[in-house]
Amino acid sequence: MGWWSDEGDGHKGGLIAVLDDGCGGHRDAIAADAPHAASSSWWRFDGSEGRPRAIGVRVVCDCSGPTGHTVQTWRGTTVHPVDFTDRDHTEGTDGESPHGPYAEWEREHLAPSAATSVPGNVTALIDAVHQLLTELAVQRPLAALTAAARLEGVAGTASTRAARAALDTGRSWTNIGTALGITRQAAHQRLSPRIRLAKEADQVPPAPLLLPAVSPRLQEQVDALKPFVGTVLRSDGLTPGGTGKTRFEMPPHRPSGLDGAADKDAE
Ligand SMILES: [Zn+2]
Repeated sequence: MGWWSDEGDGHKGGLIAVLDDGCGGHRDAIAADAPHAASSSWWRFDGSEGRPRAIGVRVVCDCSGPTGHTVQTWRGTTVHPVDFTDRDHTEGTDGESPHGPYAEWEREHLAPSAATSVPGNVTALIDAVHQLLTELAVQRPLAALTAAARLEGVAGTASTRAARAALDTGRSWTNIGTALGITRQAAHQRLSPRIRLAKEADQVPPAPLLLPAVSPRLQEQVDALKPFVGTVLRSDGLTPGGTGKTRFEMPPHRPSGLDGAADKDAE
């Protein structure tokens, strides 16, 4: 078991069992608590075969950087109830547990991590634009308004495109809302009509390509070139079409330009 972050940013979440510590509190289970078990997965701690029985579960995440090595371990603060008869429900991956462990992992850990993982150059550019517009607002307020309107358009297009890509790759509206810093419902309300419009725009067939009318004279010149397509340079010692190294060769006696002699030579 385990949940992988689909941002490709190296988070692997899961649950560990929480045990009664015998002093009225609780503690996280460790491998030594299940010495004969094949793994220390939370469901092993069901009280069978001499193992302790978990009183709950807690979220943990092994977070790795670009190297793929674990650079830190994150632990959730909530002890969630455990149901040994229903693993999905216990983990909160059944789609019906908005406050379960999986939701906590996404909300409390992935979302803040993603928010801080905006590439540095993007953040720097946004800050620079903000600074420039602040100055422009004082010096030339109307120009600043026009620029701000354009920026709003860019932001709208970018968030529509990003949300569409997120949905296409299996992210939820909850993920999108979290990334935007708003609720799932607000994200859906804002972006789903725009995504629908974008999809409709994709389905409109492109306008037919309007080729300029070819003049009879140009057509003559194109026709005159046809016999030379596939001609192979004699100096290569190759037979026409023999190697695929097809080149075009103009006969050496051809005067500059194709005028006049073109049709005759082509024969
Ligand atoms: Zn993590």
